[in-house]
Amino acid sequence: MDRQTQAVINQYDRHVMHTYVRSPLVITKAKGSRVWDVEGHEYLDLFPGWGVGGLGYNHPWIMTAIRGQAGRIVHLSNNYYHPLQARAAKQLVDVSFDGKVFFSNSGAEAVETAIKLARRWGNTAKGAGGGTGGRHDIIVMEQSFHGRTMAALSATGQSKLQQGFEPLVPGFVRVPFNDAAAIEAAITPQTCAVLLEPIQGEGGVHVGSTQFLQEVRRLCDAHQLLFIVDEVQSGMGRTGSWFAYQESGVEPDLLLLAKTLGGGFPIGAVVAKRAVADVLSPGTHATTYGGSPLGCVCVLAVFEAIKKQKLFARVATLSAALFTRLGALQQRLPIIREVRGRGFMVGIELTIDGRPIVEAARAKRLLINCTQGRVLRLLPAMTITKTQLDRGLSILEDILVSHATSAAQV
Ligand code: PLP
Repeated sequence: MDRQTQAVINQYDRHVMHTYVRSPLVITKAKGSRVWDVEGHEYLDLFPGWGVGGLGYNHPWIMTAIRGQAGRIVHLSNNYYHPLQARAAKQLVDVSFDGKVFFSNSGAEAVETAIKLARRWGNTAKGAGGGTGGRHDIIVMEQSFHGRTMAALSATGQSKLQQGFEPLVPGFVRVPFNDAAAIEAAITPQTCAVLLEPIQGEGGVHVGSTQFLQEVRRLCDAHQLLFIVDEVQSGMGRTGSWFAYQESGVEPDLLLLAKTLGGGFPIGAVVAKRAVADVLSPGTHATTYGGSPLGCVCVLAVFEAIKKQKLFARVATLSAALFTRLGALQQRLPIIREVRGRGFMVGIELTIDGRPIVEAARAKRLLINCTQGRVLRLLPAMTITKTQLDRGLSILEDILVSHATSAAQV
């Protein structure tokens, strides 16, 4: 390892909490789908910013927006109005459904907001459809991921992430994903909402079927529950639509966003149907930084880039070729159990440990991710070029072929 790299890692070891599994790479520059380490080596990143890089690193329009806004006003208290927050909220509502927006700073905070909204709604007579109120349980999915703050962690359907942090926040009832009958069986007079990711990301890239999502909508209508979709990872174009739920022809009551939303700047959002949003009155929920002018100017730049650069069409074309190629590879290599996903949200489930594949890819200057031990995950930028994507897939293909050969020889 180079001296500069080692020096930075040593400083982290001394001064930064060891809460992340980090690759031994010190990255100092990034553009589009490429990053450069402190030693000047270039890497192709098919997993930019853990899903934040939907537009790649340092998209020029976002950089221009940040520079311009930094000269005017960066942060403003939410006790005043700013035109950019109004415009960003309108953009979100225009592409989702008639509702109102609360801006947060992260995905987990969007989840926390949704949990508070659902409880407040369920605990009021209005929320219970004119009934007695007192509903506070939220049905969540096995293998889901909603973030690391206490309530979001409690909603997360992975016990291994919760261990040691008990007592968890009560009121979450876990059922298998893609199983509407299990949701129906779990509904009680205390239930107020169903929370799910239309495509589970950290859980291993599992796609919620259209039938499942439609059935959840029907159940929520029948039992007067809120249907909450967490699109922190899948939203803002990643699947080739603004939001993955739209591909199933259903409309949720609450939509949760972050990651790509700010194009690299930390901002999240909850879009809630009008009647639900109005359950929160002044003083019931807040965050000091949420919806700052700088964050909102980034949201507007992300919208502009997605529309003007016609990124949905790009994702559709490139992802069709990507899935065809990975499908053909699966036919050849028994170590590939399944290829899953939609658009630029891709999971390659292996029969072997995926982590050595991630390391081998890094050695060949390709950055990818592995989740749940065996699922290689790609979340490429929507701006990636065909040449870059083809090159990344060729590197990955070579590595998988060589691991398949060694696996066959064992
Ligand atoms: N929800 C989903 C579906 C996520 O994938 C994530 C993060 O990966 C979160 C919530 C939490 O977002 P954040 O890390 O911004 O708090």
